[in-house]
Amino acid sequence: MTLFSAVTLAPRDPILGLNEAFNSDPRRGKINLGVGVYFDEGGRIPLLQATCKAQQSLLATPAAPGYLPIDGLPAYNQCVQHLLFGEKSELLQAQRVVTCQALGGTGALKIGADFLKTLLPDAVVAISDPSWENHRALFGGAGFKVQGYRYYDAQSQGVDLAGMLEDLRALPPRSIVLLHACCHNPTGVDLDADDWQVLISLIKERDLVPFLDMAYQGFAQGIYEDAEVVRLLAGSGLTFLLASSFSKSFSLYGERIGALSLVCASSGEAERVRSQIKRVIRGNYSNPPIHGAALVSTVLGSAELSALWQQELTQMRGRICAMRQMLAARLGEQVSGRDFSFITRQRGMFSYSGLSAQQVDRLRDEFAIYAVGSGRICMAALNHSNLEQVVSAIAKVL
Ligand code: PMP
Repeated sequence: MTLFSAVTLAPRDPILGLNEAFNSDPRRGKINLGVGVYFDEGGRIPLLQATCKAQQSLLATPAAPGYLPIDGLPAYNQCVQHLLFGEKSELLQAQRVVTCQALGGTGALKIGADFLKTLLPDAVVAISDPSWENHRALFGGAGFKVQGYRYYDAQSQGVDLAGMLEDLRALPPRSIVLLHACCHNPTGVDLDADDWQVLISLIKERDLVPFLDMAYQGFAQGIYEDAEVVRLLAGSGLTFLLASSFSKSFSLYGERIGALSLVCASSGEAERVRSQIKRVIRGNYSNPPIHGAALVSTVLGSAELSALWQQELTQMRGRICAMRQMLAARLGEQVSGRDFSFITRQRGMFSYSGLSAQQVDRLRDEFAIYAVGSGRICMAALNHSNLEQVVSAIAKVL
């Protein structure tokens, strides 16, 4: 009997496991629509010009990487706040927002979850059905009971707002509600501004704790437009948490760069909250890495690089929209009697294609096309060279 002899083999992560399977598939012409990464028309993860230029300017003045403060690079945290809340935000002026650099959006969620556990040890965490797979693992891992609320309506291929509100209304007060700020993963289906207002009223009435997850700012309509929900919540007087990420919008996946922001009732409260968040970080990984924060703050701190970045982000968004239009149009031509316009209504990187688990298996086994078992396909993995192959395979399995 060794210490580890009773350890069982954990199941593969549904999405990263898919990647492993894809990488070991020897078939030529294989296509990976599984992973949530933006690829350019050439099928590569883009190195943005804005970050490239920031890199060059950082290299021009090399410095030894000393430790960052526990809550991260101050200039970075300030840039994040401006992007999320707006430079002229009253909340920022009143110093009611705590923002801490985090290890990607995932790290921000984890710090937020650990902190909430100290405040609300018995709270339920409600996540949308369906949601990003890691939400359940993350909040479950932090010790919370996690349950789903109705969100996606397969019939209308939209949000089941009535079901969502009913489920949230039934939660005990002080339950934590995880909400996707935009570009819902995996469905691509978002609430509109009116829906958010109704939801915010319910959150207030039922004393729920909103935790926004914003991993795709800029991929729905634009940086400013996609932060509308942040402004709505900020204007509502609620206190809330917000996990944000630059993995996608800056194409900096491996740098693990994101942030956790907490909107507090006063600057005094914010100071106390920051001190506790720092304790959580200190006990987890002490302090965050420098490079991603330096790149992002160099870009956002320069009007010229910032404009270049916004242009590049607009291009990424535009390419995804073009792929949506083409996929919907070509499927419409190939498969008679079906309406594929839902693909163009969905937002962000993904399309909830409606493919069943069996159809996804057939795509993989017969056509070397990989998608997530739920039918989620990554629109940003499509390009002019592989689209026809995907269309004809989907048409065959439908
Ligand atoms: N939340 C959602 C909804 C996501 O889709 C992702 C990334 N797939 C994350 C959080 C985590 O982002 P990051 O890679 O920055 O940790």
